[in-house]
Amino acid sequence: MTDNCVFCEIVAGNIPSAIVAQNDEILAFRDIEPAAPIHILLIPKRHIADSAAGLTREQGALLGKLFELAARIANEFNLNTGWRIVSNVGQGAGQTVFHLHFHLLGGWNENNTGARIDKGTGS
Ligand code: AMP
Ligand code: ZN
Repeated sequence: MTDNCVFCEIVAGNIPSAIVAQNDEILAFRDIEPAAPIHILLIPKRHIADSAAGLTREQGALLGKLFELAARIANEFNLNTGWRIVSNVGQGAGQTVFHLHFHLLGGWNENNTGARIDKGTGS
């Protein structure tokens, strides 16, 4: 466990979370501040990297399992209109928790154009 890491504390059970799925290596739980009707975080239980920038081919199998679980969750939550996976790298991209994680977002209705990713101004 990495000191002062909120997600390590969640994995350890020291901070409560609304768990939606888990296996030996991965935990999926609801984001406390949802940015979509369904907003779930998927994290490796071990603190293998602070962000996606720290990943190497060594974690290929783990990532495959994580995306497999994400698809299963999307199916279970009936995210039929589509879903998105996001991983912020660095503060400039909005990263606030420095334990590798992926946001699974979905649950928009068919008419919701707000579901499009915000590409910003480019400036
Ligand atoms: P990011 O900003 O990409 O680093 O994502 C971190 C996410 O973790 C944010 O969307 C937060 O709302 C979420 N978060 C922070 N603390 C908790 C917590 N205790 N339980 C669930 N989600 C959390
Ligand atoms: Zn951690």
